Amino acid sequence: MQIIDTAKTILKTGYVCDNCLGRQFAQLLSGYTNKDRGKAIRLILAMQAELDDEKISAVNFSGLTFRNKKIKSEKATCCVCEGLFENLPKISKKILKEIHDLEYDTFHIGVRLSDSLLKNEESLWETSGIDTTESIKKELTREIGKLIQKKTKKEVDLKTPNIVILLNLDKNAIELTINSLYIYGRYKKYVKIPQTKHYCPYCHGNGCDKCNWRGLTYDTSVQQLIAEPILEATGGIDTKFHGQGREDIDVLCLGWRPFVIEVIEPAKRQLNLKKLKTTINKTCKDKIEIDSLRYSTKKELQNLKSIHPDKTYLLTLKPKKQIKEKDLEKLNALIGTITQQTPNRVKHRRADIQRKRKIYSVKYIKTKDNILKVELKTQAGLYIKELATGDDGRTEPSINALLATEIEVLDLTVLKVY
Ligand SMILES: [Zn+2]
Ligand SMILES: [Zn+2]
Repeated sequence: MQIIDTAKTILKTGYVCDNCLGRQFAQLLSGYTNKDRGKAIRLILAMQAELDDEKISAVNFSGLTFRNKKIKSEKATCCVCEGLFENLPKISKKILKEIHDLEYDTFHIGVRLSDSLLKNEESLWETSGIDTTESIKKELTREIGKLIQKKTKKEVDLKTPNIVILLNLDKNAIELTINSLYIYGRYKKYVKIPQTKHYCPYCHGNGCDKCNWRGLTYDTSVQQLIAEPILEATGGIDTKFHGQGREDIDVLCLGWRPFVIEVIEPAKRQLNLKKLKTTINKTCKDKIEIDSLRYSTKKELQNLKSIHPDKTYLLTLKPKKQIKEKDLEKLNALIGTITQQTPNRVKHRRADIQRKRKIYSVKYIKTKDNILKVELKTQAGLYIKELATGDDGRTEPSINALLATEIEVLDLTVLKVY
C-alpha cells in the first residue's frame, strides 16, 4: 500500500478531517495521535500538489498557504465524522456539565454511533482498505476520555467504573449510568426483627388496608436500620442488603454477621463511615449493633454470598417430660452427620431434598426448672429448630428423638459466625 496514493483517494471523497485521515494509518508509528498523523500526511499531499500540474480540490487544504498556486480556501465539514472531532471540546463541556454534581473516582466512556457514521466509516474503508486503520468508535472513546480525564483529574476504569458516560450519537444524547456503591460491615441483632425489608404481599410496597398503608409486613428490619442512614448520606435511590446468610426473625444474632449494602445510583461516594457507624449504633442501641464499616466491591459481595460459614448456636428448649441428668449425655450422639429432609415449614418454597450437615461440637446444661440450654457448632445450612423438634422424623438424629420426648423451642440465638 502506498500511503500517499491511499490518502489521495481518501481526500477525493470530500473534506476529511485530520483525525479521520490519520485514523486510516493508526497502526503505523506509536506515540502519535491520529490527528498528528493526518496533519503530517496532509502537509505532504499539499506540497506534492504544489509540484504537480493536476488541479486539486481546495476543500482539503483550507488554512494552508501555497507558494506557487492560487487556491481559495474553503471551510467544510468532515464527510466521515460529520464534524465530531472538531466538536469534541464542545461535547466534553456538555459531559462535564452532566456529571458536575456527581461524586466519583473512576469513569468509563462509551460511544454509540449513529447509522450515518457507521455508513460513512464503511464506505471510507471500501476506498482506503482496512490494513492500518482503527475504528472511529475507538478513537472517539479515547479522545473524549482524555479530555474528561484532563478536566476532572479522575481515572478511567474500564472494568468497574463508578460512572459510565455514554455518548449516544444515535439519539444525540449523553446517557449516564451511575454504578452502585458497596459498603461492607458486620452486624449483631439483639431483638426479634427480620434481616431484610419484607414488602406487604398484597400491595408489594404500595400501601394497602392489610398493611396499614405501610407497604411493609414488619415495621423495621436490620436492613432498614443500617441502610436508611446510608441511603440518606449517599443520596442514592435505593439500597439492597446482602447478608452472609440470615437468621429467622425470631432468632437473635450475637455473633458478628458480615453484610454488604449496595447503594443504587449514589450521588455521593465520599462518606464519613466512622461517623455513620456511630450514628447508626446510637440510634439503633439495644436493637442492633454494627462495626467494621468500610468500602467494598461487587466482587467482595459475590464472594460473601458464595461463602457459607460455620456457626455456633444456643438453643433454649423446653422438654415435655422431666429430663434426667444422665439422659443428657445422649445428646453427644448429635456430633457427626445429621440427615435432614427440607423442613415442613419451608417445604412450600424450597425444593424437598435431603441434605447432610455436620455438627462439630455440643455442650448442654439443664436448669432446675427442666429447661435445656444446648450450644452447637454446626456446618452452614443446618436447620436448627428442626434439629431440636425432629420435624416429624425428617431430621435425624434429633434432640427430641434422643431424649424421647416432645421439645418446644423457646429461643434460638446465633452466638458466632465463623
Ligand atoms: Zn472527521
Ligand atoms: Zn399492603
